[in-house]
Amino acid sequence: MSTADDSKKANPGPDAERWLRVVHDAGLLHNVKASHPAQRPPYKNYPVVPGVDPSLFQLPPQGMSDRQREAALAQTKGYESAQRFHFLGYQANQKLDYENLRPYLDFHVNNIGDPFVSGNFTVNAKWMERAVLDYYAALWNARWPSDRKDGESYWGYVLTMGATEGNLYGIYNARDYLAGKVLLTDPKKPKARGRNGGVASASRLVYQQAKAAPNAPNAYTPVAFYSQDTHYSIIKAMRVLAVHTFYEIGTEHFPGQCPLQVHGLSKGEWPQEVPSKGGNAGPGCIDVHALAVLVEFFAARGYPILCIFNYGSTFKGAYDDVEAAGNTLLPILRKYGLDRRRVQYGPGQHDERTGYWFHVDGALGAAYMPFIEMAHQKGLVAERGPNFDFRLPFVHSISMSGHKWIGAPWPTGIYMTRVKMQLTPPDDPEYIGSPDTTFAGSRNGLSAMILWDYLSRHSYEAQMARALYTNDLARYTHEKLLELQTNLRRDLWVERTPLSLTIRFKQANPELVFRYSLSGETLVVGGEQRAYNHVFMMPWVTREQVDAFVEELRQPGAIPEQTPTHPAEPSPKSCGAGDARQLLHVPHTGRGFR
Ligand SMILES: *Cc1c(COP(=O)(O)O)cnc(C)c1O
Repeated sequence: MSTADDSKKANPGPDAERWLRVVHDAGLLHNVKASHPAQRPPYKNYPVVPGVDPSLFQLPPQGMSDRQREAALAQTKGYESAQRFHFLGYQANQKLDYENLRPYLDFHVNNIGDPFVSGNFTVNAKWMERAVLDYYAALWNARWPSDRKDGESYWGYVLTMGATEGNLYGIYNARDYLAGKVLLTDPKKPKARGRNGGVASASRLVYQQAKAAPNAPNAYTPVAFYSQDTHYSIIKAMRVLAVHTFYEIGTEHFPGQCPLQVHGLSKGEWPQEVPSKGGNAGPGCIDVHALAVLVEFFAARGYPILCIFNYGSTFKGAYDDVEAAGNTLLPILRKYGLDRRRVQYGPGQHDERTGYWFHVDGALGAAYMPFIEMAHQKGLVAERGPNFDFRLPFVHSISMSGHKWIGAPWPTGIYMTRVKMQLTPPDDPEYIGSPDTTFAGSRNGLSAMILWDYLSRHSYEAQMARALYTNDLARYTHEKLLELQTNLRRDLWVERTPLSLTIRFKQANPELVFRYSLSGETLVVGGEQRAYNHVFMMPWVTREQVDAFVEELRQPGAIPEQTPTHPAEPSPKSCGAGDARQLLHVPHTGRGFR
């Protein structure tokens, strides 16, 4: 028997096979302190998944035989196929056709660093990423090509997460921009040139923070505004980035002074989020008038303004009227010098910036609505959504999910802004040879390939047809559900926000919720607490699927009655202990992610 010492002496050079033999001869787990899950099956604590036997998936130290693995994978395939067959509850297209790209599962393609700088991680696909970004820049009426020397031109990147990352990154940029931060080349360090056709990369960058003048103490404290229909990723971003909302600042510094009378709150009490038009019972888009009243209160006190708009809200699929909001807010911002302002961050060092940032969360709508707009121009559809993109001079950034409207095997998306709004690289880029301008370090190169492949195979015409088909399917589903309501002589709370791809209705029983993956939400409508589900029409859904679903809802017991409950309006003071400061409202219902 050879020992480790013997093998060292006889070692003719690294040889993977030989090491395998050495380890094998030492005996598996003999004299090794290791615990492993097979000793005490942990899955007894975990949720039961219908059709899945967790014991087949337990990973033993010796790995699995091919037969065991195949049995487990067969069960996975059976489960996923069945669930996908009925999948109607979320805005994720399930019709994927990326055969072309199958070989790349065996490559590690990493688009680390800035998409417009090649970098030294050469197993990348950045030229495909750039093609995708150019495509969306044109679609979203930004100035292209991207050019570091042209501040008005676009800059963006393909996300490793979905729109969550785009939202985080947009708000991160917004925070530093509004807070008067600036990244400067450290004057004490010499400059170096980037490689691979890169831009000049500073060998050291330093952050500098502008100082607020004594007569304008709030000048660099951004305050955030978003509606009650906003996705929870925005609220998470607020916490991660320590950006404060008008509710937090209002409650702490201006208690009882809210200029807006909100239904259900006492006079002067701050709402936690900007009311949506018609509240919970409304279509789900932001109430522009309410937003303006709230913004003016803070603009008048010198706070820079961060607004986050929804373009295709998660539960109701509503489109905020970004253009109307901008046109209403701009005169207010101008009145208080927040349309343009000079940020002084050192003696003789300053720049000019807007005192506001408008971010558009277009997770679904930014991918879909441009094609409805084209179809509308051709007279093929009566309505279109409001303008939301870079043709509006006041839009700073947009995020979109790639796995929703387009469809992808994993989360992805796009973040886009204008070059002049970019944070310059927040770190020393020398290591990867490419400026660190993105949120994630490593980025999934396959995501860019997926988006590229899709766009290369779907013409504008094909995408318009897809958008019109889906819109028509949503109309059809809405009618079918209204019909069901009439036939059953029950109010099923069926509703569709105009142009939205989702239809909401009274919550179905748990079996249907599981079978159709129905996302749920509780809304207080007219003082009554109501549990809803919705279905999302996506390009892959067929009329037959909708018909089958409506038939299921027709069956007795499919939609249980709900005992009306009348919850007291949650008081902002009720959960604060003693002098503790109440911070953000973290929604656990009402955002369609359950
Ligand atoms: C889905 C969604 C997000 C988050 O997107 P992910 O792709 O899940 O990260 C953000 N905002 C809205 C409005 C969404 O619907």
